[in-house]
Amino acid sequence: MSVSGNNQFLRHIPAVDELLNNEEIEALAASMPRSLLLDTLREVIGTVREEIREGCLAPPREHEPRQFLTELIASRTVSLARIKKRPNLRRVLNLTGVVLHTNLGRAVLPAGAIKAINDIAGGYSNLEINMDTGKRGSRYASLEGLLAKLTGAESAMVVNNNAAAVLLALSTLAKGREVIVSRGQLVEIGGSFRIPEVMAQSGARLVEVGTTNKTYPEDYKRAITSETALLLHVHTSNYRIVGFTRETSVVELVQVGREFGLPVMSDLGSGSLFDVTGLGLPAEPTVQEVIHAGPDVVTFSGDKLLGGPQAGIIAGKKALLERMKKNPLTRAVRIDKLTVAALEATLREYLNPSQVKEQIPTLHMLGLNQEALKQKADRLLAALQRETGLPARFTAVETLSAVGGGALPTAHLPSWAVAIEPVGISATVLAAKLRAQDPAVIGKLQDDKLLLDVRTLLPGEETMLIEAVSRALAQRGVAD
Ligand SMILES: *Cc1c(COP(=O)(O)O)cnc(C)c1O
Repeated sequence: MSVSGNNQFLRHIPAVDELLNNEEIEALAASMPRSLLLDTLREVIGTVREEIREGCLAPPREHEPRQFLTELIASRTVSLARIKKRPNLRRVLNLTGVVLHTNLGRAVLPAGAIKAINDIAGGYSNLEINMDTGKRGSRYASLEGLLAKLTGAESAMVVNNNAAAVLLALSTLAKGREVIVSRGQLVEIGGSFRIPEVMAQSGARLVEVGTTNKTYPEDYKRAITSETALLLHVHTSNYRIVGFTRETSVVELVQVGREFGLPVMSDLGSGSLFDVTGLGLPAEPTVQEVIHAGPDVVTFSGDKLLGGPQAGIIAGKKALLERMKKNPLTRAVRIDKLTVAALEATLREYLNPSQVKEQIPTLHMLGLNQEALKQKADRLLAALQRETGLPARFTAVETLSAVGGGALPTAHLPSWAVAIEPVGISATVLAAKLRAQDPAVIGKLQDDKLLLDVRTLLPGEETMLIEAVSRALAQRGVAD
């Protein structure tokens, strides 16, 4: 089309006020703030104007130009408004098979925890009031007894996450003094949590002993001086040193601590209250076992193998925990009432050991056997194959899931997936289209196929998944 033709067409773009009288846009105005609606309208008008100028949008012969543009702008505004009204934090269907996927929010909460959040969030609660005396109480009171009972520890408290738990413990017990750690345990836990750096933040001085692969009790003993405040054991949760190795166990470290009158702390990382060998996983020390070994303080996460909300649990000797509660840092890392509610409900599930595997989604997913997973994949495969005309080939394939969350890195978790080989687009483009769906779908790419590992597909998500895959495959954008 000629430049003057474009200019002619441009003149038919309706004014904002006129567009606001359009039926579709009027309906939209009832459900979103006016300023957001106006921004959306202007954005759409801007792109339409641009498309006309560049000659990508020409007046259709069979339509009156103004009416054509009004309808086009209205329908695009409705679509764009739907995207803008979507919350930024959205539901994702996890088909990666990584059960504790840190980027996808780690542990899925048990139903009881969700109910507890619901009950507490919409009203007031006895968060910090002692109902017997009517006086001020502790926000940890509802958790302390449960944690002591479940772990065997004298006392317990809970902070925002395990990184905060380690920081608070080190700051309280060793600020300005020395903490002895094995060179084999100076781990980084993703993001920026590195033991030496957390140590520096806490104001404690790190004293490294032993070598990467071998550290003996004697190494700790030789490093002890009048400056020593604490002996620290870090569970190397996210990697394994295999072969020619010697680690000083928590039990041995406790003996050294007793001999020299020094407290011992164990940062357990994952911290499971359940023996995961019962799920077919490699042995991981339970919190109860570690507490039994006698350290003064144990720290672990609420949202790793425990399967609860994000939290850092500190369990151990009462006298040391009392000191931590008085540390001003405690206020900065305290948990909110929703975490208290969810964690209490999660911990209560552990009081019933025969049911816990079914009630805690994390444990349930980790414990799914090959046969159950194959059935799940076959069902999904059949449902996708029933969606006729989709430009893709679907097959059921064997795959490997992972625990995630930096736990049990060597665990071998055989699983089943539906592999999608799209026709006409690459698997990478399909992955991007699936991320744009609502709910979004995240799978794993492998040999130009997109694998949907069914281990982490939750009950009730199958229909949403099938719809999202169908929509993503049916959409044909300019980018294809
Ligand atoms: C995961 C982990 C942490 C950090 O825990 P968050 O709850 O993620 O803050 C600290 N130490 C170890 C050994 C861990 O595995």
